[in-house]
Amino acid sequence: MEIKLTNLAMDFQQTKAVNDLTITIQDGHLVSILGPSGCGKSTTLNMLAGLYKPTAGEIYFGDKLVNQVEPEHREIGMVFQNYALYPHLTVLKNIMFPLKMAKVNKKEAFERATEMAKLVQIDHLLDRKPGQLSGGQQQRVAIARALVKNPKVLLLDEPLSNLDARLRLEMREEIRRIQKEVGITTIFVTHDQEEAMSISDKILLMRDGTLQQYTTPLEMYDKPSNLFVSQFMGNPPINIYKATVNKELKRVELKNSNVHIPLLGNVDVTKFPEDVIVGIRPESFVSETSSKELPQVSISINLIERTGRDTLLSGKIGEQQVRALISSKQQLGNVEELSLYITEFTVFDSETENSIW
Ligand code: ATP
Repeated sequence: MEIKLTNLAMDFQQTKAVNDLTITIQDGHLVSILGPSGCGKSTTLNMLAGLYKPTAGEIYFGDKLVNQVEPEHREIGMVFQNYALYPHLTVLKNIMFPLKMAKVNKKEAFERATEMAKLVQIDHLLDRKPGQLSGGQQQRVAIARALVKNPKVLLLDEPLSNLDARLRLEMREEIRRIQKEVGITTIFVTHDQEEAMSISDKILLMRDGTLQQYTTPLEMYDKPSNLFVSQFMGNPPINIYKATVNKELKRVELKNSNVHIPLLGNVDVTKFPEDVIVGIRPESFVSETSSKELPQVSISINLIERTGRDTLLSGKIGEQQVRALISSKQQLGNVEELSLYITEFTVFDSETENSIW
C-alpha cells in the first residue's frame, strides 16, 4: 500500500520533533528512516503507527486519510528493538496471539501461525518459550507475529540494535528477503547508515526533525543534497575541505594545500559563490587512471591500515588531513609520499551548505 505524508509535523511543547515532512512511499517499498539520535525517527514511526497524533499535516494509507484512525484499525504490523514477546507463551502462541485477539478460529489461527513460522524459518522452535531462543530467533518470532494478520504496512523500530555484528548482518538480509517475499510496504528505523544503505529501496534522512534528503541509497551517497548528508553517509567519512572558486580558471582551489580541481563540463561557474566546501570520498582517490583529465594530488602518508580488500591511507595534502581508501592489490611498500588521482568530488556552498556541483 502506498503511504503519503503531507506537511506532517509533531511538536512536544518547545521541541519540533518532526517538521513539515512531505513524502510518498511507494507500494511494496522498504524505506529506512535514518538520522542521528533525537532527529525524529521514532516520532515519525509512532505517527505512522497511530501512537502519536500529528500536530499538523496528513497521513494517507492508500487513498484513506488515517490521522484519526486508531492503531488497531490501521492494519499495521510492528516490530520493536526489544522484540516485546510474551515470555510465558510458547513461540507458536506468541505468533497466534494477534489472531486470538481478533477472534480468528483456532484452526485457521494455527495454520496461519505455522505458515508465518515457516516464512521466517523458526518452524522447528514452535514449542519453545522466548527465553530459550537466541536474539536473532526472538526477532524472527516478533516478525512472524507482526505479519500474521496480513497487515498492509510493516513498521520496524531499530529491530537489529540488540544483536551482535554477525547476527545483525544475517537478520538484515532476512528482513529484506521476508519483506520482498510478502511484498509489504515497510518502514525501517535505524541510525546506522550502512544498514540503511544495504536494506532500503529509499532512505529518508532527517536532522533536527527536518527532512534532508529522500532518495535511493546510491543517489544519497553519490549526490548528497547537502554537507550534512554527505558526512552522515559513508565510513570512513568523506574528506571535507574549505576552498575557493577560481572563476577565471574554472577550478576550485583547496585552502592550505596546493590542490586545484578543475570544474570540467558544462557548468556556469560564474554563478558559484566564492567560498565553497569540497567533499572527496576516501574511495574517490585512485592510484592509476587512463584519463588524462583527473586532478592529481600528492599525499604524505602517516598511516597505512590494511583491512583485507582495501587499504586505508591516512595522511596530509598540504596542511589538510586526508583519508584515502585504495585497493589492497596496489603494492605500496614503505612509501612516505604517494601520488593519487581524484575521480569524483562534491562542491557545497559554504554558507548554505547545499550541494552545488
Ligand atoms: P533515537 O535515535 O535516540 O531514538 P529519534 O531520532 O528516534 O532518536 P525521537 O525519539 O523521534 O528521535 O525524538 C525527536 C525529538 O523529540 C527529541 O528532541 C526528543 O527529545 C523529543 N521527544 C520525543 N518524544 C517526546 C515526548 N514524548 N515528549 C517530549 N519530547 C519528546
